[in-house]
Amino acid sequence: MLLKDKVAVITGAASARGIGKAVARLFAAHGGRVAILDLDEAAAVAAAGDIGAGHIGLACNVTVKADCERAAGEILQRLGQVDILVNNAGITQPLKIMDIRPENYEAVTDVSLRGTLYMSQALIPHMRSRRSGSIVCLSSVSAQRGGGIFGGPHYSAAKAGVLGLARAMARELGPDNIRVNSLTPGLIQTDITAGKLTDEMKVDILKGIPLNRLGVADDVANSCLFLASDLSSYLTGVTLDVNGGMLIH
Ligand code: NAD
Repeated sequence: MLLKDKVAVITGAASARGIGKAVARLFAAHGGRVAILDLDEAAAVAAAGDIGAGHIGLACNVTVKADCERAAGEILQRLGQVDILVNNAGITQPLKIMDIRPENYEAVTDVSLRGTLYMSQALIPHMRSRRSGSIVCLSSVSAQRGGGIFGGPHYSAAKAGVLGLARAMARELGPDNIRVNSLTPGLIQTDITAGKLTDEMKVDILKGIPLNRLGVADDVANSCLFLASDLSSYLTGVTLDVNGGMLIH
């Protein structure tokens, strides 16, 4: 029970096969109370119900600052405190550099990067007031190796931005006893690729993974639990690779 008496907020956690939902399920199994945020309120509420009693689901578009602030206020009112924030919401698009239009750039960078900034800003004052907090940000191996798996250059850029933002937050918030760390998953089998990843592509990708399998959402959830909980109490500003050895550096 690593999260007994803790409250965790997880963005983009309604997707049934997604990383956020797997994190929510694991956190609940470890005694945490969870607030699931996602675009669609009914889906967020249903996902919270799936993981058990006492968890809540709220609509929150992380690209909208007022939405993040409203959600943070409601969570504090209903659950009383927030100990952990997982900035998980993200989208991707398989575009080549010259095909990225302004709206593609905005869509992809807004959810991962602006969303991480806004949701963190919404909860930092509360965490500061308690001199306690753990923030985990979902980046990607794509940020480290320059894409080449599924997402386009704008996705790599957004996820590299997340790494920089997380490290800068770690430096600034350390004196407030708020830790900020990042996860860089490799290819994890969820719905983010929206059925566009062919079997042929998977075989190709597998050739570059020493552990010889694609990742599953629980692989990322287990690492997220480590970073969110007191098991990692002396870690801040780190990037934890969860990629089966796809990038050994
Ligand atoms: P997913 O598509 O299964 O889930 C993403 C969730 O984010 C969805 O529920 C979606 O509704 C939600 N979302 C989208 N825009 C949002 C917004 N503006 N506000 C709030 N929620 C929003 O994806 P996943 O594979 O579980 O990915 C989770 C995170 O992990 C993402 O940040 C992704 O970039 C990152 N990641 C995934 C992989 C992978 O291979 N699956 C690899 C590396 C990093």
